[in-house]
Amino acid sequence: MTLAPYAADETTSRGRRYHEPAAAYRGEYQRDRDRIIHSTAFRRLIYKTQVFVNHEGDLYRTRLTHSIEVSQIGRSVALALGLSEPLTEAICLAHDLGHTPFGHAGQDTLNACMRDYGGFEHNFQSLRVVDELESRYADFPGLNLMFETREGILKHCSAKNARTIGELGERFLKRRQPGLEAQIADIADAIAYNNHDIDDGYRAGLLSLELLSSQALFARPLNEVRALYPDLEDRRLVYEIIRRMIGFVVTDLIENTARLIGELKPESIDDVRAAAKPLVRMSDEVAEQHLKMKRFLHKHLYSHEKKLQTEQDAQKMLETLFEAYMTDTATMPQKFAQQAASADEEGRARIIADYIAGMTDRYAMAEYEKLECG
Ligand code: MG
Repeated sequence: MTLAPYAADETTSRGRRYHEPAAAYRGEYQRDRDRIIHSTAFRRLIYKTQVFVNHEGDLYRTRLTHSIEVSQIGRSVALALGLSEPLTEAICLAHDLGHTPFGHAGQDTLNACMRDYGGFEHNFQSLRVVDELESRYADFPGLNLMFETREGILKHCSAKNARTIGELGERFLKRRQPGLEAQIADIADAIAYNNHDIDDGYRAGLLSLELLSSQALFARPLNEVRALYPDLEDRRLVYEIIRRMIGFVVTDLIENTARLIGELKPESIDDVRAAAKPLVRMSDEVAEQHLKMKRFLHKHLYSHEKKLQTEQDAQKMLETLFEAYMTDTATMPQKFAQQAASADEEGRARIIADYIAGMTDRYAMAEYEKLECG
């Protein structure tokens, strides 16, 4: 399939940080996707919490299945708009590589621990993982990904951090847009979690059909499915509703984005980057419903009191680990301990944050047990 002129194109790419000869049978963005799938950080996502901690049940999403669902939505949108599917897939699969164990409770705790040392932000950490922390190639640190892949992974960035990462940080200082594939990955993330968190929240018994039907996005397909299949059991009813919700927002996203592209008529990815606003957007009406659903999930699911205890446990574990490693860096594995030994206080804290952020939920729990019992 031919790419649209405003798609990311490897022949005009800003390329890799370290020069490498082209692969024989793969495009450069395909190669990035393959590198991400082979990375250690990617495999760890299977044991990292999305919303429900891993030991709460086998059927809940983890960061890994979340990332795959994001990529599946992103790829559909990219293909429909004539954009690079492998680049979109690579960005989607990598977007959460820097996530801490224990979901957002983990992120908030590590950020608080790092308050005096530059803070911790999981999205910025995802870039750090692919640029620095993965060590598997003899000639360079990290995965040496293409500029557009890295540009897409870094969704947001403080001005302070943006100044430390060269041309990749420029768009945050100049308020420019990333390429369309990156814009798709960003929205595909939100579509994926809004929908799978409804499924997981319903499964966990924290969300009821009645509560959910207060949301226009849910009520419409609920009525539709009930009219078509009056005797359908609740579990299948929910699946039928969710597939319709995803279809509805994705279709709106594709059609509205095609309209916006038609209006602006970008001729290249640089025209996309220079646009005043992102071009990959739902219509105002659907975007509003989608945002309302996100707020609804915040209120009724993410801050549900039943989740509070596991969040407090997670906070205590990560705080204890951070303090223990700051006091005695030798309790970390040799690789981290060695780096920390020659670092100043801020550098030491960053190495510890890298180590903790890389942990899976169960690894963090095991390390905590060791410290408490040792
Ligand atoms: Mg995500």
